[in-house]
Amino acid sequence: MSGSFEILVAKTAGYCFGVRRAMEMVEKALAEGDRRLFAFGPLIHNPRVVNELEERGLRTVDSLAQVPGGKVVIRSHGVGPRIYREARERNLEIVDATCPFVKNVQQLAVFLAEEGYQVIIIGEPEHAEVKGVLDSVAGKALVLDKIEDLDPERILPKVGVISQTTQDLVNFQRLISALIPLVKEIRIYNTICLATSERQQEAAELSRKVDLMLVVGGKNSANTSRLTEISRMNGTRTYQLESAAEIDAAWFEKVEKVGVTAGASTPDQQIEEIIQKLTYLGGKVGNE
Ligand code: SF4
Repeated sequence: MSGSFEILVAKTAGYCFGVRRAMEMVEKALAEGDRRLFAFGPLIHNPRVVNELEERGLRTVDSLAQVPGGKVVIRSHGVGPRIYREARERNLEIVDATCPFVKNVQQLAVFLAEEGYQVIIIGEPEHAEVKGVLDSVAGKALVLDKIEDLDPERILPKVGVISQTTQDLVNFQRLISALIPLVKEIRIYNTICLATSERQQEAAELSRKVDLMLVVGGKNSANTSRLTEISRMNGTRTYQLESAAEIDAAWFEKVEKVGVTAGASTPDQQIEEIIQKLTYLGGKVGNE
């Protein structure tokens, strides 16, 4: 057992509005006894939650060709028009859990393209949300993840910029600053959602106050990994974990304060489980 330490829990830790909404829509469908309920991609980036839902009847598919009929859930990341079209052609009913903030990004992309701007999405090219936004403009947009991706030769004089909702603000600002000297006209929409910016800001502040940070959430969750990166950028020793079983008592030697935060797809129960283990190891919850 390690010595005593204080546990500071981030107020913003846990489910965001969009994930909570998607979970409620699926819970409702399961409660109504829907036997043929399919999620197009893992409902949220949290393997434990997805496993539990699958045990209760939700099936995850990565292609609509795998759906024999029934209802298909569009998760909070959204999809582009191609998938809606395919679902209609296959006579599938849609449970649309696309987060309204993601819908807004898709609509802005369409608007910018219609107004003749070169659409630039600042985000991860392989992320489902970015793929959906890209499809909204029939693939006619440039995706930039990091400053190294910026090739001045590919930038047109009139650009419209939007961001993945879970984008890191500093990265967004850095790319905008690099784009400005390259263009004649730029229209910028900061579409980083409030849930994301609040979590990132709190993770940055909390990690400066503590000796050790624990970030709870799926290893495949982009927003959780971003919190981990932000905390590490402050030089704070940080571990990202999915369950209390991953905690090693040796981490807490000579540690006085431990910060806990969690991604937008982490349920309260998983955060609680971590706090219980920390309490067992000598931690006491303090006021953040
Ligand atoms: S992180 Fe923001 S945009 Fe994404 S699902 Fe949550 S509330 Fe919606």
